[in-house]
Amino acid sequence: MDSHRALVASGDGPARFEQLTDADLPPGEVTVDVRYSSLNYKDGLAVTGKGKIVRKFPLVCGIDLAGVVAESDAPQWRPGDEVIVTGWGLSETHPGGYTARQRVPADWLVHKPEPIGLRQSMAVGTAGLTAMLCVLALEESGVSPEDGGEVLVTGAAGGVGSVAVALLSRLGHRVTAATGRPETRDYLTSLGASGFVGREELAGDSGRPLDRARWSAAVDTVGGQVLATVLKQTDYRGAVAACGMAAGTDLPTSVLPFILRGIDLRGIDSVQCPNPVRAEAWSRLSTDLPLDVLDAATEVRPLSEVPELAAEILAGRTRGRVVVDTA
Ligand code: NDP
Repeated sequence: MDSHRALVASGDGPARFEQLTDADLPPGEVTVDVRYSSLNYKDGLAVTGKGKIVRKFPLVCGIDLAGVVAESDAPQWRPGDEVIVTGWGLSETHPGGYTARQRVPADWLVHKPEPIGLRQSMAVGTAGLTAMLCVLALEESGVSPEDGGEVLVTGAAGGVGSVAVALLSRLGHRVTAATGRPETRDYLTSLGASGFVGREELAGDSGRPLDRARWSAAVDTVGGQVLATVLKQTDYRGAVAACGMAAGTDLPTSVLPFILRGIDLRGIDSVQCPNPVRAEAWSRLSTDLPLDVLDAATEVRPLSEVPELAAEILAGRTRGRVVVDTA
């Protein structure tokens, strides 16, 4: 394959399609025939040009890719290997997954675990990896389904939220979904949520330093006042994994949830996450994520539709995970 279509950010408005050749590929040890990418909130920011994600222009967008190794100068990777890359520099400083062929450093790749298929690996993608990292962090903080507490997931109908609901429910937690879209309740129930909270219930400041304790733990994809409220409502020695900023980057809180209830606030980063932690997360995803539930939360769309989908995800209108078919 020499010529391939790619979605490229130029730094001047939204990303546009360009025809690239192998001569345009960046340096790196491993060349991958990209089969699938995915759509994440960060891709929405990069493709529309509304967020400062891309730091080097021109650059192929797409923070995730999955495909088959075509050529390798690294002994640990062989042609034919099915591989995944999420995060690292993709779509920031290194060309990403919205293309049919890409070249990457050998230490960015992970083997696609069985029984997850290539398409399903992108249904997981950065969002699913992040959800798993949130669950691992809660477990490290001592959160266990045996405690019988209620675990809250905010932004539940989004990509990270949907996978978090499915994972936590499969692990035996009682899961409450916070969503701004009441019409997604049947969908969230099918993922395993058993309780619901409207987004507006968490979006206002009660004015009190602490609220009634409602959650033994939480996964927050939203940030801002929602995260501040979640902290005030988290039970004694509970834990909150914070990974997102769909509602903002500020955190209007006080020290009281931490010093009166011993709350553990865990920050989650999937981009620079070290390889041993990634390996553990993918291993857990391969055993703990119900693939039929993942499939039901996924739609597959062609690369040509990514410019419109980027605007949709920023407007909070996509549900679950979107896999991008790069063929
Ligand atoms: P999605 O757009 O798929 O999901 C975000 C969800 O947040 C929406 O579906 C919506 O859920 C909710 N939401 C959107 N806007 C608002 C708002 N103004 N106020 C409250 N809730 C809102 O995005 P992703 O799942 O891809 O990412 C979620 C967040 O996590 C993003 O902020 C992203 O940047 C971050 N992220 C961080 C990572 C990390 O490594 N730390 C990795 C991946 C993502 P609903 O309709 O149910 O209310």
